[in-house]
Amino acid sequence: MSLAELQQIESDCVIPSYARFPVEFVRGEGPWLWDAEGNEYLDFLCGVSVTNVGHCHPLVVEAVRAQLGQLMHVSNLFYTEPAMLLAERLSRSSLGGKVFFANSGAEANEAAIKLARKARPVGDIVSVLGAFHGRTYGALSATPQESKQAPFAPLVPGFRAVAPDPDALTAAVNERTAAVLLEPIQGETGVNVLSEELLRSAREACDRHGAVLIFDEIQCGMGRTGSLWAYEQTGVMPDALTTAKALGGGLPIGALVTGPRLADVFAPGDHGSTFAGGLAIAAGALAALDIVEDAALLARVRELGGRLAEGLQELPHVLSVRGRGLMLACELDVPAPEVVRRALLEQRLVLNATGPTTVRFLPPLIIDEGHVQQALARLGAVLEG
Ligand SMILES: *Cc1c(COP(=O)(O)O)cnc(C)c1O
Repeated sequence: MSLAELQQIESDCVIPSYARFPVEFVRGEGPWLWDAEGNEYLDFLCGVSVTNVGHCHPLVVEAVRAQLGQLMHVSNLFYTEPAMLLAERLSRSSLGGKVFFANSGAEANEAAIKLARKARPVGDIVSVLGAFHGRTYGALSATPQESKQAPFAPLVPGFRAVAPDPDALTAAVNERTAAVLLEPIQGETGVNVLSEELLRSAREACDRHGAVLIFDEIQCGMGRTGSLWAYEQTGVMPDALTTAKALGGGLPIGALVTGPRLADVFAPGDHGSTFAGGLAIAAGALAALDIVEDAALLARVRELGGRLAEGLQELPHVLSVRGRGLMLACELDVPAPEVVRRALLEQRLVLNATGPTTVRFLPPLIIDEGHVQQALARLGAVLEG
């Protein structure tokens, strides 16, 4: 089928909630994608930080394929080994409590919000301006962006947003606060690294008033910043974290991971999901964790992140670069959406614009120095042209 035919079907039959680029991808391997005409693209977006292990990583494909041939679905009314092993793995690699599985990031945050509310009945959920926590009603209510919220009012009551400022956050937390929910590095709004001071203030305010500190690591976790979890590089430990995006090695899964204090807040019947923790995706997630939870890979993420940031700084029209590890953004003095479009269509480099002048970089964590240099050369050609 031609691209024009696909576009016709889209305009006839697909609810227009996405603006798509005129490219049809048909195959992927590592950091590479191929379109229907056989053109090769360097992917520095990873399906928005999903394919952190690269496209179709053989260990993930093999684990999923083997499981699919054996048993696909039984529900959470029974035991399955992949789900139990994944829960154990997530708990031991992070906060040491217990895990609730979901199918996406927004759902993982819904579980976190419900858990916090059950732990602190009727309490407020405090989030930070610039946050993105997902599109379902609870997650959207914690996403203080006018354009995303306004058309869907009324939202869930009991959510407040504060500026990313230690004093504002401290003032917003009191005995009526259930939770502070934040991304250590805000992804969707342009890779804004929250300061250590802000995270420490959040920790202290939550401790003072018995509120729950939840880190949304859906984008910044799974090795993206050069440690398995972003909080490890901050010196602040949350009471719970949410993960999704890259957790399944390319397939949809989310999880809420608690520390010991919140491990037994939910009782049977409190929350649930038919598909969550399914066998094949859990098997894929175990393989993805095997690949990412590797000291050498994580060190390389930090090193290559430094190289990419340095290289970007030297390109024309780049005003500044920010981020951590391989989660970076640069600020341009020319329109970012046009740069991203030309990078894709002229240089076959996949990037994303998070704002009118901001380009985001989320390459796979398995790249080497050569891929970084190629991406810089391709983007440089666009910016010089
Ligand atoms: C993508 C994202 C979400 C939402 O995840 P979905 O799987 O799209 O529901 C939530 N929080 C953060 C930080 C994200 O980057």
